[in-house]
Amino acid sequence: RAKDKGGACYQFYTAAMNAHGNERLRLEADLRRALERGELQMHYQPKMNLRTQAIVGVEALMRWRHPVLGQVSPAQFIPIAEDTGLIVAMGRFALEAACADAQEWRRRGLPPVQMSVNLSPRQLTGATLVSDIAGVLQRSGLDPTLLELEITEGAMMKSPETAAALLHELRALGVGLAIDDFGTGYSSLSYLKRFPLSTVKIDRSFVRDLSTDPDARALANGIITLAHGLRMKVVAEGVETAEQLEHLRSQDCDEIQGYWLCKPMPAEQAYEFMAERRVPLPWQAEVNAVRHQ
Ligand code: C2E
Ligand code: MG
Ligand code: MG
Ligand code: MG
Repeated sequence: RAKDKGGACYQFYTAAMNAHGNERLRLEADLRRALERGELQMHYQPKMNLRTQAIVGVEALMRWRHPVLGQVSPAQFIPIAEDTGLIVAMGRFALEAACADAQEWRRRGLPPVQMSVNLSPRQLTGATLVSDIAGVLQRSGLDPTLLELEITEGAMMKSPETAAALLHELRALGVGLAIDDFGTGYSSLSYLKRFPLSTVKIDRSFVRDLSTDPDARALANGIITLAHGLRMKVVAEGVETAEQLEHLRSQDCDEIQGYWLCKPMPAEQAYEFMAERRVPLPWQAEVNAVRHQ
């Protein structure tokens, strides 16, 4: 009968919802212990300057290796960390590890590279951010100008006035500030001027569609021109093909990051990648040939 069917359907639905809820609760419980159990690790994805082809920086990206589930995506665990407030401790860990690794690479003879660390909205509203960052810089001995903090539009726009004041304090420490995933949020362009930003990161969604969608191209080109007009550096994220790279170079984009160059990797591998990369890339010969004509 219809009523029975409805009942069964309802039962099934709640069971599915419970399963979903349980999974999240379980991840949440496990995430609480992940830090102390050493399950969190920073990986690093290099960024390349499009004019010199040198590796000029890396982005630090958090990885969670769950003892049973294996790698859990940041898209899954960062929001949980945000909601529960765990992000504050995790964010401190990320900063501490990233600055220590950057300083270790320097000690081992690598030329200086910029270390970019993501900050979540919750960290921006915390009262201790500026002193936390100052402390991390002091403990690691890293040159503050080599540290960059990546902040999304959304995080800055929650309370723009408070954010602007905080960002000025951070800039006063000497660190760089990047606006992450630019173009996907809802910030007014005037905030680009009001916030003391040093870098704009073009979101992957525009880069992905560069070769197929004239609108994505127009947006990417516009962001580059706008950012340069405001004396900011432009980094394109998610570059996967040579075609995307060539387009970005033709528009004078400063740096790229993406699978075309390499995926994020553990500290030791990132070190080796940078140490070995004095070798020219396949397309470098071509570029040089054109330049020397
Ligand atoms: P994001 O800051 O925009 O980081 C870039 C993301 O794009 C990374 O994903 C990176 O692995 C991915 N990516 C880079 N190049 C390519 C490419 O060519 N193709 C594709 N398909 N993807 C590419 P990931 O590591 O999964 O991180 C996702 C997001 O999680 C980050 O986005 C960031 O918002 C957040 N996140 C990661 N680590 C941290 C952290 O330590 N703290 C905070 N607050 N957020 C973090
Ligand atoms: Mg980022
Ligand atoms: Mg990004
Ligand atoms: Mg992104």
